[in-house]
Amino acid sequence: MIGLSDPRTTIVAIASATSPALRGAVRLAGDDALEVLQRMLDEPVTVPPTPSRRVIRLQLAPPLGILEATALLWPNTRSYTGCPSVEIHTVGSLPILEAIVSAAVSAGARPAGPGEFTLRAFLAGRLDLPQAEAVLGVIDATNRQQLDAALTQLAGNVSAPLREARHQLLDMLADLEAGLDFVEEDISFIDDPTLHAGLQSIAQLIDATATQLCGQRRSESFHWVVLRGRPNAGKSSLLNALAGQDVAIVSDQAGTTRDVVWKEMSLGGHRIRLADTAGIETGNDVLVCQAQRAAAEIQHAARIVILCQDARESRPPQAAQVAPAQAVIAVATKADLLGPRDRNGLLNGGWLMTSAADGQGLDRLRQAIVQLLEDATDSGDTGVPGTAARCADSIDRAANSLRRALDLITDAAGQEWVAAEMRQALAAIGEVTGEIYTDDILDRVFSRFCIGK
Ligand code: GDP
Repeated sequence: MIGLSDPRTTIVAIASATSPALRGAVRLAGDDALEVLQRMLDEPVTVPPTPSRRVIRLQLAPPLGILEATALLWPNTRSYTGCPSVEIHTVGSLPILEAIVSAAVSAGARPAGPGEFTLRAFLAGRLDLPQAEAVLGVIDATNRQQLDAALTQLAGNVSAPLREARHQLLDMLADLEAGLDFVEEDISFIDDPTLHAGLQSIAQLIDATATQLCGQRRSESFHWVVLRGRPNAGKSSLLNALAGQDVAIVSDQAGTTRDVVWKEMSLGGHRIRLADTAGIETGNDVLVCQAQRAAAEIQHAARIVILCQDARESRPPQAAQVAPAQAVIAVATKADLLGPRDRNGLLNGGWLMTSAADGQGLDRLRQAIVQLLEDATDSGDTGVPGTAARCADSIDRAANSLRRALDLITDAAGQEWVAAEMRQALAAIGEVTGEIYTDDILDRVFSRFCIGK
């Protein structure tokens, strides 16, 4: 990873959106960021020792020539990145911003890699890893809830309790290990009941964090909504009708959908991926098995399952294995083919009547999806999904080590074994907060950023 090998070189990138905008910004950070800036100027500016704002005259390559801009200067380590930094604010024209980046590179800066400014903030101790991921969450947020969740995580709601748990663990481990040094003399600095109680409260805290992170894992920037039901139930037609275009093949021949076909769309401010799957059927045919496996996998990721049944079907609906956390909407399709008497029976049974042919019920189905997504969002998604994906394994290992440590105390197995489990738990918690990290972990976190952040 480039940023780890030379954390002090001055880096440069466009920090604003690269789409047309009224204003744009170029960011420089590194030990000699201010010297690089001076080399880019038509006439040098005086830089006071504290953060300041200056009007500058940039000397850009012809035909641009001199460009007046505003520079925000952080001459010391009190910047976002923890090193001297400059932000050049000017008009949001992409060619002009690119010309400024080129001028900075000619003056000695290096183009920044993805997330390298935030990586520097992390390496300087300005942010921990969940907070760095929250920066990405703020950038990626597509609705108000995701933004709120990312901002809360940025404020430290994930890291603070874990850091506290880590400190408590470290204190108890220090007492335990001090006692191990005096084991011959029978001197102990922490007795088993105190240790047990302390570890139990930390285990509870870790469990609470795990629950919180599970909620996060569900708050991806889009939600899977999956159409399930028997072959020929009208799933592909419903996908096409909701998407407003022919995404999936419609046929009266059963079994035409083998792969998962999906279309991303926006409903009530939520981004969803509506997926058509193979009809639910049994059989040993290789293709059937593959199609059923693919359908089950996508259903596993879904927040909402739309269970489709031909409205004229007299058999009970085919059961789809739905997880407790998933919501189901029961839809009776092809309602245009029904007589009024059959309609009433289905409506009384709670079926949502739709027809891809004449469009009836489609708006109600859209509303039902939005309502369920909003209910799920209100019920406590509290952070950035990237953090959940990265930390799930570490949190599990921390929880398991703590459980084993508690069992070892109960079994009076010996404090050295308890200490070993506590060390494992400490390492796993440190991975979450970023107190313990590897190049690999940093690469995974920061490679998801865009350049300039
Ligand atoms: P899938 O196998 O569940 O994806 O079902 P399809 O969407 O391919 O539809 C199966 C058959 O039912 C096709 O012949 C469609 O034209 C027909 N069909 C689907 N939806 C409707 C509908 O709303 N009204 C009518 N009349 N026919 C439909």
